[in-house]
Amino acid sequence: MIIDDQLNWYEPPVQDILEKFGVDPTRGLSPQRVLKLQQSGGKNVLDEAPRENAIQRTLRHLLDVSIIILLFAAALSLFMAFQGGKTFFEPIVILSVVILNLGLAVTQEGRAERALEALEKMASPTCTVLRDGVRLSVDTAELVPGDIIVLETGDIVPADARLIETSSLFADESALTGESEPVEKNVSAELEGTVLAGDQLNMVFFGTVITAGNGLAVVVATGMDTQMGHIAQFLKTGKRAKTPLQKRLDGLGRLISWVAIVSAFFLFALGLGRGMQVSDMLMVAIALAVAAVPEMLALIVTLTLTTSVQRMTKKHALIRKLPAVEALGNASVICSDKTGTLTMNRMALTQLWLVGGDIFSATEPFTREQEQLLIDFARASNATSKIDEYGEKRYLGDATEVGIIRLLDEKGLSELARDNDEYRRVAEIPFSSERKKMSVIFEDLKEGGYLILTKGAMEWLPIADEYADELEAARMIHDEFARRALRVLGLAGKRFDVLPDESDLEELESDLELYGLAGFIDPPRPEAAFAIEEAKRAGIRTVMITGDHAVTAKAIAEELGILEEGQSVLTGAQLADVSDRELIDKVRNYSVYARVSPEDKLRIVNAWQENDAVVAMTGDGVNDAPALKMADIGIAMGITGTEVAKGASDMILTDDNFATIVAAIKEGRNVYSIVRKTIYFLLVCNLSEVAIMLFGQIAGWGIVMSPIMLLLINIIGDGIPGLRLANEVPKPDLMERRPVKKDASFFGDGLFKHMARQIIFCTLA
Ligand code: ATP
Repeated sequence: MIIDDQLNWYEPPVQDILEKFGVDPTRGLSPQRVLKLQQSGGKNVLDEAPRENAIQRTLRHLLDVSIIILLFAAALSLFMAFQGGKTFFEPIVILSVVILNLGLAVTQEGRAERALEALEKMASPTCTVLRDGVRLSVDTAELVPGDIIVLETGDIVPADARLIETSSLFADESALTGESEPVEKNVSAELEGTVLAGDQLNMVFFGTVITAGNGLAVVVATGMDTQMGHIAQFLKTGKRAKTPLQKRLDGLGRLISWVAIVSAFFLFALGLGRGMQVSDMLMVAIALAVAAVPEMLALIVTLTLTTSVQRMTKKHALIRKLPAVEALGNASVICSDKTGTLTMNRMALTQLWLVGGDIFSATEPFTREQEQLLIDFARASNATSKIDEYGEKRYLGDATEVGIIRLLDEKGLSELARDNDEYRRVAEIPFSSERKKMSVIFEDLKEGGYLILTKGAMEWLPIADEYADELEAARMIHDEFARRALRVLGLAGKRFDVLPDESDLEELESDLELYGLAGFIDPPRPEAAFAIEEAKRAGIRTVMITGDHAVTAKAIAEELGILEEGQSVLTGAQLADVSDRELIDKVRNYSVYARVSPEDKLRIVNAWQENDAVVAMTGDGVNDAPALKMADIGIAMGITGTEVAKGASDMILTDDNFATIVAAIKEGRNVYSIVRKTIYFLLVCNLSEVAIMLFGQIAGWGIVMSPIMLLLINIIGDGIPGLRLANEVPKPDLMERRPVKKDASFFGDGLFKHMARQIIFCTLA
């Protein structure tokens, strides 16, 4: 069948589409084909409004009031020079100042803009694609039609694509269709004629979100050719929005400008009253007005923000939204996940327990039954291992499961856990943070019938009443493991005869028989305790939020110094019984939240924010996105985080490490400290000039400083040194102070008094 370019991609059989692109779905395109297609078809991005170029930037700065005034002054002095009353020295200096000012503003702003663009590129979304038989993670902008993409829960669909295979794949297409319920996709849907995007069940669309399941698809449209491209002319505007700090500083700048202009008028009037020449006084007044306006302030802040952001990137904190830098400076609470952020996420299975037996250590030789328990744990897992290109064994998958598979390998039992002529895996009920368990279903090829193996948090395993005694014994073992900071997984299962429909599989997770427990050690990150201590000294509270059991969480929190006297652990079940009002009142008492689901994070953020806290919150899953958006600083995990979490975040931790958050806070505080120093420095200089000129005129000394002196002081005396401030690195004492409130005055902490004293001192000197 010939497929033309105006095709409804949902209509023909998927095989025809694959043929059209000449792609084998098990191998994907070759890099050479991709390169060719990229050259002819362009990038897989939506158009953006063009960014300002250097000429436009120069023109914008030329329209600055201070530049216009300076040009006016230059014209005036030129006129006077032609009249013969004055030399050409003055207009030349003024014009040089204009050029220097413009040059500095345009080049420095351009530098900042380029740095931010580079940063945006680093934080751009990635996707998994199959090329030449190898799974790669690539920038979504590099995708081309014909690419075979792998979709997983938490992915943002990187292009419009026709599905090839799916496993319980659901997509949230609200961004495209407005429909808020996720849609279950269906590869075998046969569609004809005009079908709206929301009903194209065998397609997925650019910018929508995979909320559950996984799948394989072939890209059919990229960039502006996608459905999203058709509806969004410009997703982003070319202009970068100002951060709250920049807006506040603009306000301050305006206030000072008014002080300068009023003073200049006053000086002008005074001079005229004293019988001085109109042209001389006009020049002095203009020079004073220009010198007193802190034009450099905005530029220094922009540069400070960008240099900080670049430094943060080197320290593994990738800033996605500039205002986050400022919010980091004010952060007073960090709500952090446990696994992988505070701990290493390197789960080692160290202890096991078989129902009816004793606890046994992973290092001892196993009996036949003990081996079977480990094999069953492995069968109920998805983690795998492979030999990489360097000949080293690499484990892939969930860290807890990797712990199981690794021990299985060490015991030489891997072969026994694979599908064989006795058992064949037929279905899976996937793990989710809400269910805290997963199941795998096997067909018994020898004896007939089926077997379900369920592993997960022990309290979430539906054990049949007849095993109440075993369950009681298991609880004691569980708590003993947990007190030793071990993560505990239970294993249960049952046999049954008839396999229900796919949609009814979850019903099988009932009346199970408990088989045993496994305890995993996940050591705390060595640097985490130090970072928590540093945060504490800086007046920042660390709160642990985990899906793990309360006893395990408590043991680790104590080890890390998170849980202190008078503070307690709250479980998800207890949290459900606490009203929002109560939580707001008591939130300071809780340092650890255990067995919570991502939705609970929203309530915790809200409670802290109601207590005037500035909250940094970490997250990695799809369901963490709302809490990441709500927090003052939403932080996504760079390694284990989903694209959705990254998309909702303000900052990405490229090393998933808690200590990076504290380092980023230090940088955020440094920005605020530099801004205060800049304000202090520029204002003392500028207002002293105003005071000296007014004082001189009132005292009858005439013009104390010539216009040229004022302009040179302005640019050489404070502009250039001010720019140096932007590069100042954080000092250790930044973390010895309490956090500054979000909208605290720039002049707080005695800065105003200090400045007034300094201005008087400078004026007198
Ligand atoms: P944190 O919230 O600290 O990052 P986490 O993300 O690891 O912890 P979840 O992934 O929600 O927390 O896990 C919660 C519980 O679910 C675990 O304590 C464990 O009992 C169970 N669990 C975790 N992984 C699996 C898995 N692969 N199979 C079955 N059960 C699991």
